[in-house]
Amino acid sequence: MSTIHYKLVFAVFFSIAWLFQSSFAQGTLQQLLNNGPNAKRINIVFLSEGYTAKQLPQFITDATNNLNSFLNTPPNSGYKSFFNAFAISVASTDSGSDHPSRSIFRNTYFNSTYDTYNIARLITINSAGSNNAYTLLQNLIPEYDIVIMIVNDTEYGGSGGGIAITSVNSSALEIVTHELGHSFAGLGDEYSDAYPGYPDIEEPNTTKETVPDKIKWKSWIVKTTPIPTPKTAQYGSVVGLFEGAHYHTTGWYRPKLSCKMLSLGVPFCEVCSETFVTSYYKFLRPIESFSPISPEIFLSDTQSVILSIIHLNPTGKSIEVEWFVDGIRRNGENESTFKIVAKDFGIGQHTAYCIVRDTTLLVRNDPSTLLRDSVLWNISVSNASDVLTDHLDKIPNHFFLEQNFPNPFNPATTIAFNLPISSFVTLTVYDMMGREIEILIAQEMSPGRFTQQWNASKLSGGIYICELRSGSYKQTIKLALIK
Ligand SMILES: [Zn+2]
Repeated sequence: MSTIHYKLVFAVFFSIAWLFQSSFAQGTLQQLLNNGPNAKRINIVFLSEGYTAKQLPQFITDATNNLNSFLNTPPNSGYKSFFNAFAISVASTDSGSDHPSRSIFRNTYFNSTYDTYNIARLITINSAGSNNAYTLLQNLIPEYDIVIMIVNDTEYGGSGGGIAITSVNSSALEIVTHELGHSFAGLGDEYSDAYPGYPDIEEPNTTKETVPDKIKWKSWIVKTTPIPTPKTAQYGSVVGLFEGAHYHTTGWYRPKLSCKMLSLGVPFCEVCSETFVTSYYKFLRPIESFSPISPEIFLSDTQSVILSIIHLNPTGKSIEVEWFVDGIRRNGENESTFKIVAKDFGIGQHTAYCIVRDTTLLVRNDPSTLLRDSVLWNISVSNASDVLTDHLDKIPNHFFLEQNFPNPFNPATTIAFNLPISSFVTLTVYDMMGREIEILIAQEMSPGRFTQQWNASKLSGGIYICELRSGSYKQTIKLALIK
């Protein structure tokens, strides 16, 4: 009896273990392109649909070809270093995809189908397929930004949306780039084939506006170009207002006679290229990181500090870096670093400011200043001799709380202050939230200059506030604990 019982438990345990193993085994992540940490790159993820286990190596080849096609298409070609790319391989039972119009149905992992809304080339997945996709993404690469599902079917087709879908048709590589115009850059279709029920909402590259001054891409149109623009070879290479866009032959307009959002085999137009570039910067800020991390820097007048930034690097060398100290542009400094020598700036409060801009000619409209980024440091310079020299023999003529020294510090620092009269004095440390951390002094004191040690070995790194109070007199300084 007991033997049978154990066997049963054993069998149940094994079947659960097997199930877990199989669910973890579903979906294998492989990195195709590594340009930096995922948090600081736009992460493209390819998903395999309609590939049997034996066909999965072909999926990696297809994903790599898709990736190269997208990244080699201008304007992406100038911004390749902004991207990372991954492939999630997951096997389907059958190869290919559904074609309901021909009664072809295949058992595939994401349950994709052609013939959506009776449009032969429109490939979509249902909500179950979409759930499968997002579960894999969450488990394997939650930092995903762009998702492309490659359907292992040679028939022409695809769709945009949160998950862009493409097939392995010979035109597929270009279709992916077109679909990412929708799902990544938010562009509209510039062709006029009817799409019943599609919302008549303007995209960056489609408009109903015909008043020249109100056209959103007017900065790309020269004054001599007629509005609307005749669809003739004479205007084949300029930006204007060409009728036919957003699934309408009349009343809707596009920026250029030809564009990849209209037809394959041609480049993106100026307006679509501009939208791609501003879209990169919706994901990534031009300044990737900077040092020191703290916006508050404390120096004695014998010290110096090197400020540095790391910025994104488009291939066109279009990034411009500017450094300002106390609002004045400083020339002759290395682009990514700037040395602050305290004695050159003098005792007191100063600011250092770094501005990074992508000055690419591909962008003329950037109302949200996405292509510009900045970092500001507040620099307090104090007199080292004041801090280090004892003046106990002198009665000061005013209250004064000096900048602590050293600062930043770890774990101990010295705080000095002057008292011109006898009074009840408190010296208290608070955190940045205003919570009291430690009372260093709370007593009657005679006039003079005093120093107080503070050991912060038990506290975590960050900025702390030290406040001196005596009667109605109050002064604070910032203490930077580095851990
Ligand atoms: Zn376009």
